[in-house]
Amino acid sequence: MINKPIRDNYLPYGRQWIDEDDIQAVVNILKSDYLTTGPAVGEFEIAIANYVGAKYAVAFSNGTAALHGACFAADIGKGDEVITTPLTFAASANCVLYQGGKPVFADVDPETYNIDPLKVESLITNNTKAIIPVHFTGQPVALDEIHQIAKKNNLIVIEDAAHALGATYKGHMIGSLSDMTMFSFHPVKHITSGEGGIITTNNEEYYLKLLQFRSHGITRAPDKLIENHGPWYYEMQFLGFNYRMTDIQAALGDSQLKKIDKFIDLRKKYVSMYDDAFKEIDEIQTPYQDPNVSSSWHLYIIRLDLEKLSGNRKDIFEGLLQENIGVNVHYIPVHLLPYYAQLGYQRGICPNAEKLYEEIITLPLFPAMTEDDVNDVISAVNKVLNFYRK
Ligand SMILES: *Cc1c(COP(=O)(O)O)cnc(C)c1O
Repeated sequence: MINKPIRDNYLPYGRQWIDEDDIQAVVNILKSDYLTTGPAVGEFEIAIANYVGAKYAVAFSNGTAALHGACFAADIGKGDEVITTPLTFAASANCVLYQGGKPVFADVDPETYNIDPLKVESLITNNTKAIIPVHFTGQPVALDEIHQIAKKNNLIVIEDAAHALGATYKGHMIGSLSDMTMFSFHPVKHITSGEGGIITTNNEEYYLKLLQFRSHGITRAPDKLIENHGPWYYEMQFLGFNYRMTDIQAALGDSQLKKIDKFIDLRKKYVSMYDDAFKEIDEIQTPYQDPNVSSSWHLYIIRLDLEKLSGNRKDIFEGLLQENIGVNVHYIPVHLLPYYAQLGYQRGICPNAEKLYEEIITLPLFPAMTEDDVNDVISAVNKVLNFYRK
């Protein structure tokens, strides 16, 4: 774009917020007896379970491993179909492939960008075993409808809530409403543990299976052992993985969780600044919010009305990058990724998601940004749109 960029330095689309107390929490672990899974992991699990109102939580090395664990606990295997959204990170579907199952993509609602329950229902077969809805951008999916479909067809619901820590559905916290719920603690998410993820559940059977799965399928629990050779004895009873979270990660996550309310409040404040600035701009559509839910706002996505612009999404995206605004696109629909295409998934199966993909841009949104940063993004969007306005 012509002349001087709006910003001299690059503003990323998301990043962590780390305070002195977070650093101290990690240092304390480094000086303690346990680096890997010790008491801090258990404390973090209890803290998350309490926060979301679930009975149990099992921490994993990352959110993708946690999703894999949930698919294992749900007994997804060869021949099983699992319905999920195409508008998500590949991990939401990859976890089904890890178990030998088949992901089935149900198109999104063009208003909320979340999985459309009517599409889910239309894709159910005798092989359908589970649904993995994703609370896209932090806005909860139509859970009542999803649960109704699941109940009628005897399906397990695993929520991918990587975007939705702290979000509510009809006043209830996400994390205690379905069979299992996954949260991620990657640095761009609401709180971070470096890498990290967790499954929350109210089901004791899933809880015990998840614990064993994340540690090679090994147990030492006396009541679960088939034999017992002595105090050293353990049994590997199925093929699990080493998916354990470390105490270093857990202590960081626990310290971060204490700041979650502040983090979400700041995200909401910046969202309302964006909404106010963009509501009169004809060329962009701001995110629709379902009145039944409260989003925890992982992402702020604008949708371009390309008929009113002389440039396409790539032009606008590159224009914003030149202004040093760290824009992004969430997501390339999963079924269009080369690996999925090679598995036989065709373009055209999810037209709403495919169309959205051509029109969306994610703007920077994270609590550690300032109001000045938000205003820079707004100025850059105005500058670039003025250039491409028909
Ligand atoms: C981040 C994310 C994941 C995976 O989490 P990791 O902790 O990075 O493995 C899964 N699903 C969605 C929608 C995500 O955004």
